[in-house]
Amino acid sequence: MTGRVPGRDEDVAAVTFDHDDGDAVVVIGSGAGGGTLANELAQKGIDVVVLEAGPRYRLADFVNDEYLADEMFVWRDPRTSSGNARFVKDFAEAPTWLCKTVGGSTVHWVSNSFRFMEREFKPRTTYGAIPGANLLDWPITLADLLPYYERAESKMGVTGRGDVPYLPETNNFKVFALGARRLGYKRVTTSHLAINSVPRDGRNACDQIGFCMQGCKSGAKWSTLYTEIPKAEATGHCEVRANAMALQIEHDERGRVTGVLYADQAGRQHVQKARAVCVAGNAPETTRILLNSASGRFPHGLANSSGQLGKNYMRSVLGLVYGVFPKPVNMYRGPVGAGLIEDLSDNDPGKRGFVGGIWLGLNALGLPFLAGILKPKAWGREYAHDLEAYAHMSGLWFCGDDLPQERCAISLDKEVKDRHGLPVAHLHIDLHQNEIAMENWGFVKSAELYEAAGATKVLEEPPVACAHNLGTCRMSASARDGVVNKWGQTHDIPNLFIADGSVFTSNNTGNPTLTIVALAIRQADYLAQRLRANDL
Ligand SMILES: Cc1cc2nc3c(=O)[nH]c(=O)nc-3n(C[C@H](O)[C@H](O)[C@H](O)COP(=O)(O)OP(=O)(O)OC[C@H]3O[C@@H](n4cnc5c(N)ncnc54)[C@H](O)[C@@H]3O)c2cc1C
Ligand code: SF4
Repeated sequence: MTGRVPGRDEDVAAVTFDHDDGDAVVVIGSGAGGGTLANELAQKGIDVVVLEAGPRYRLADFVNDEYLADEMFVWRDPRTSSGNARFVKDFAEAPTWLCKTVGGSTVHWVSNSFRFMEREFKPRTTYGAIPGANLLDWPITLADLLPYYERAESKMGVTGRGDVPYLPETNNFKVFALGARRLGYKRVTTSHLAINSVPRDGRNACDQIGFCMQGCKSGAKWSTLYTEIPKAEATGHCEVRANAMALQIEHDERGRVTGVLYADQAGRQHVQKARAVCVAGNAPETTRILLNSASGRFPHGLANSSGQLGKNYMRSVLGLVYGVFPKPVNMYRGPVGAGLIEDLSDNDPGKRGFVGGIWLGLNALGLPFLAGILKPKAWGREYAHDLEAYAHMSGLWFCGDDLPQERCAISLDKEVKDRHGLPVAHLHIDLHQNEIAMENWGFVKSAELYEAAGATKVLEEPPVACAHNLGTCRMSASARDGVVNKWGQTHDIPNLFIADGSVFTSNNTGNPTLTIVALAIRQADYLAQRLRANDL
């Protein structure tokens, strides 16, 4: 059947599939992982139904207003948390930051797009055994992923890669680069961002408005909402069902998945039959779906024979730092993240006292967002004084890799349920000593940079809620150690795949999404091959 796709800038004829059509692959989630996978499969002629819990917006719906945009995109259903990390207390009702909308968190993201370094695929070999950490090498190497990184970067228009030029220097960048030059840093650029620096792929070049996290009204920033998803629909092989919340994955007596139970906007429940199911709901929700799908045959959740499902949750070591300068900087002018220093990303535990490194990147938040995160719940004269200095501020953040720990885990809350009666996700996050040392060092190096550039005051802000959600379905060579194999296929169930950051065996120094997209492209190649061979 064909129909019209609602809520698009240009409506296209779209295919629709019957609920009992079991020939389609069902993808849960339409963000970086799910949206990319759906398009890659559809381009190969494979039928796909995408179930997306959130609504669908047009570019024209986006608002250049931090809090209104946040209201539109962010996942507000309850989650609970525990642990010793400060942000767990500061953001108790929202310890993770992810979106519920067609396009997922790629609607909201800053678009930093960094590759893993070679050593980051081999944390156990590189770092050795570290007490409290559950380190494991990935079953793939940088060489395995390199061709897929290149395909992902080309698809996303990542600046400074292939033939895509870097973005121009903003005022915020000039301050950042001045500090870097004075400290002798060499690897300083306007960063690798998935933002068109020139018109590309039928989308505009960046017009430097600075509301990248509010949906990018010009469409210059890559989001699956207006790239992968409409391209998939245009093939006639992909149906995207918005406001469709996947509740449980069903299986037959052989233990193979057969379909997905989901609720539509009115709360009515349906089962969409499936040839294979790929889950890309972002780690908290992916883990929750698998745990909520427990059955007599899989009493501890789907694909959990290793007992590792939900464990090893990672979310990056982050810190926000703002320098106040004698003259105006107006950091809000231009893309939020257009600056990167790579000099501190090496691993030098002998000198630093911790393993892993950090990136320093620009982070030009608007005044309303900054007011919300600057000393959470602060008030009074000093707070007001700091906010008055906004026009004179330059903003950056540092990002490093936290280590996988079994005790950092996502499980089902024993009491709180969602409106469908299913337990919500509970996050337990305890900081490892390595992270604490890295975070302290990150603040020192960031302050040093701004002081070198002439800052009169440096504001160090505690970490915000986790926007990088990784590791709860980790990839492993052996079924004993993890949830999925090197293709993202679960060890236990051949036609069940995971296509988001939950498959990460370890974290990387920078941000994860380029790797999620590269892995999704790789998974689509493998899945298509297996489907064509009738081998699932
Ligand atoms: C403010 C912000 C800034 C960020 N900046 C960067 C950055 O600069 N660089 C970077 O690499 N990363 C960044 N990230 C993180 C990045 O957005 C994520 O890593 C990436 O989008 C994850 O991809 P995903 O496919 O796993 O999940 P998402 O993109 O979050 O998509 C998951 C989708 O699944 C849907 N879903 C979940 N559960 C269900 C269900 N049960 N049924 C149906 N649908 C469901 C959700 O509604 C959502 O649309 C940022 C995130 C935020 C919030
Ligand atoms: S600065 Fe560029 S990427 Fe950011 S919102 Fe504006 S056009 Fe989009």
